[in-house]
Amino acid sequence: MSLTSKEIIELTNKYGANNYAPLEVVIQKAEGCWVWDPEGKKYLDMLSSYSAINHGHRHPEILKAMIEQTERVTLTSRAFHNDRLYELLEKIAKVTKKEKVLPMNSGAEAVETALKIIRKWAYLKKGIPENKAEIIVSGNNFHGRTITIISFSTEEQYKKGFGPFTPGFKVIPFGDIKVLEEAINENTAAFLTEPIQGEGGIIVPPEGFLKQAKELCEKHNVLLAVDEIQTGLGRTGKMFAFEYDNIEPDVIIIGKALGGGVYPVSAVACNNDIMDVIKPGDHGSTFGGNPLAAAVGVKSLEIIERDDLPGQAMEKGKYFMDELRKIDHPQIKEIRGRGLLIGLELHKGDKNAHDYCEELREEGVLCKDTHDTVIRFAPPLVITKEEMDFALDKIRKIFSK
Ligand SMILES: *Cc1c(COP(=O)(O)O)cnc(C)c1O
Repeated sequence: MSLTSKEIIELTNKYGANNYAPLEVVIQKAEGCWVWDPEGKKYLDMLSSYSAINHGHRHPEILKAMIEQTERVTLTSRAFHNDRLYELLEKIAKVTKKEKVLPMNSGAEAVETALKIIRKWAYLKKGIPENKAEIIVSGNNFHGRTITIISFSTEEQYKKGFGPFTPGFKVIPFGDIKVLEEAINENTAAFLTEPIQGEGGIIVPPEGFLKQAKELCEKHNVLLAVDEIQTGLGRTGKMFAFEYDNIEPDVIIIGKALGGGVYPVSAVACNNDIMDVIKPGDHGSTFGGNPLAAAVGVKSLEIIERDDLPGQAMEKGKYFMDELRKIDHPQIKEIRGRGLLIGLELHKGDKNAHDYCEELREEGVLCKDTHDTVIRFAPPLVITKEEMDFALDKIRKIFSK
């Protein structure tokens, strides 16, 4: 006998750690942009698992690639070669225009990997004295949840109770080129930033910020590392959000949609003069670069390119944002974003972003608040105009009260 949503939620809460506060909805089935609960109610997914579902749920070609691979070999560890990994590495290298790739699983692991590469580069190549390397990061950042990564978070709750923290990071306000320049010194190894802050509330930096940051970094022999885990692979209307600034970052971190919505796959890409500091035994992961991940990752990237998901996100994002901007409601402060990474910011009021998300859920639209005042709209990039209109109708409805 199948359980009701209420029963499933109770059991989940009974046995599960309480580290999330999900919306009161249970997803039992999904296809494309839609998900269903056990009672058969249908919802439009406007979150896409934080951009991990850019292709839509259960993309048939990705499932096929995955199932076919399960019939041959799924895990080898890197103690041995497998016959699929080179395809993933080559594909990521081509897409990022970098020479070398280091595959991992989750986003946080890829960020940690980038930090290790950057530090070792700083000692071996830049000549910074051992243990003195500094990495500059942006305030209001989100790069994951490990101890080192939260060490340079500015979000009180992410850190409280989890110290002591990893030293070696300097936080500057996001998008402030002047402060970045002042923060760079002879021990600066890198500047690590999201091109657009996702969890931070869909914050787009001032025009040209990344371009200026890249120039500064070059001038001071500092690496520019971009975390494209959420913004990359088409989400913002380009393959990578850094393309808006016409730059080539030194280190590119990807994840989320690389796994095609079915499997965790992440990676760090950079040129060989940086990656060659990593030697056998320096770093690794039991699951990183496994053949199943490779099969999924390659297919995910192929589809993003073939179906021009970046172009689709650009066009659809324009329409969606234009329509949102037409909604006249005193609590709506601003609509912002790029491509299909869109934030609706509210003035503080009787209702917060979470309340509106609950109302949208009742109307059959799933989205997620970030902080108290921002509703994030980040649907699968394959969303149709009809599906966008469905969402817009419901959004207009909850803002008509
Ligand atoms: C989601 C995210 C991460 C962390 O990825 P996980 O797979 O959850 O570890 C890191 N950086 C950014 C920008 C993200 O959006």
